[in-house]
Amino acid sequence: MKKKKLPLYAKILIGMALGLAWGLSAGALGMAEFTQDWIKPFGTIFINCLKLIAVPLIIVSLVDGVSNLSDVSKLSRIGGKTIGLYMLTTVFAITLGLILVNIIQPGKLLSAERRDSLRETFAADLDKSITAAHAPAHSSPLQPLVDIVPENFFNAASNNTNMLQVIFFSILFGVAMILSNKEKIQPVKNFFDGANAVILSIVDIIMRFAPIGVFALLASLSIDMELMKALSVYSLNVVLGLALMVFVLYPTLLKLFTKVKYKEFLRAILPAQILAFSTSSSAATLPVTMDCAEKNLGISEEVSSFVLPLGATINMDGTSIHQGISAVFIAQAFGIDLSLMQQLTILLTAVLASIGAAAVPGAGIIMLIIVLESVGLDPAGLALILAVDRPLDMLRTAVNITGDSTVASIVATSEGELNTAIANDPTTNINTTA
Ligand code: ASP
Repeated sequence: MKKKKLPLYAKILIGMALGLAWGLSAGALGMAEFTQDWIKPFGTIFINCLKLIAVPLIIVSLVDGVSNLSDVSKLSRIGGKTIGLYMLTTVFAITLGLILVNIIQPGKLLSAERRDSLRETFAADLDKSITAAHAPAHSSPLQPLVDIVPENFFNAASNNTNMLQVIFFSILFGVAMILSNKEKIQPVKNFFDGANAVILSIVDIIMRFAPIGVFALLASLSIDMELMKALSVYSLNVVLGLALMVFVLYPTLLKLFTKVKYKEFLRAILPAQILAFSTSSSAATLPVTMDCAEKNLGISEEVSSFVLPLGATINMDGTSIHQGISAVFIAQAFGIDLSLMQQLTILLTAVLASIGAAAVPGAGIIMLIIVLESVGLDPAGLALILAVDRPLDMLRTAVNITGDSTVASIVATSEGELNTAIANDPTTNINTTA
């Protein structure tokens, strides 16, 4: 009898569960050091492989995708819809966060003692974050716009946090290809077509190691997950907000604007969600998010290669919720009542902060400093939540990529570029037998 192979996502889930179990018991068994020295490196190697492929993937797939568009007006149409939807979900997320935190008021439950001990414990980490938040001295309000345009291609491509600059160059290159003489640029087109196929195979190869990588990452991360308990009401508040996005907003949007069944949507993007959870980085997850969108949801490469890299960089719904809740939580913990005007300021700065946050672990918490300062709160308050940031970062990153995939599905449907038969087919799954 032929043995049935486990699908990849099941292997990744097993890796995740074993990693969690290992991490949670390692401390008690005296294996914490062994885990850091001998298991964690495999997780780091796995993340490095994913990051390694991120820049080439964006360049090749975006150039390929854009140059396949029939004309430039289609690009601006897709671009307009994408950015509009990204803004909408972001504003919704922050508003939801603000409403929840005002109802639940977790900050008022934190005892003064606990608050002081958290501040002391995390004082050193805090200094690092504050320096990072203030590093770019933004002289003009238009500086973020200026930052999108690189002055040197190789500088831009040499740093994974310069994603928007790479996107800018790739779109420019693709648009120039549409405008150029078709015959003349055919070899260039063929090159990008071929390179795209190669990069997708690299993603498949890397994903074969995902179960081991995810095991190693979770084994080393979950060692200190216990801290989550200390700030349980605040953490639950964030988790509730994230859950409402995943189980209420996204299904509603998909139902209104697409024919994709939500259950199948979740199944399709599960590998990407698990990776986002394990790596806490939308950028590292991007190759898999794109693979899931194209192979499991039947979204055309034209749409996915434009919408998803942009989303990984500027659309962070999970981060947005977290910003809103955390800012008000810190104010509550310090006994400060924020006025409606101040909460609106938080809304506005949190939109900008979530757009500006890099798609890497812990980026959101650094941007939070700017939000806190916008309403005159002491950024030292960040110390109160640093302890639980990693697990919450894992969860919000998974929501970030779920939001990106939702918008990609809507934009693709509106352009007639989502294959509903593939999306709603419970048997399609990338690398099912890897
Ligand atoms: N880690 C998140 C991401 O990569 C950003 C954040 O810290 O909220 O999407």
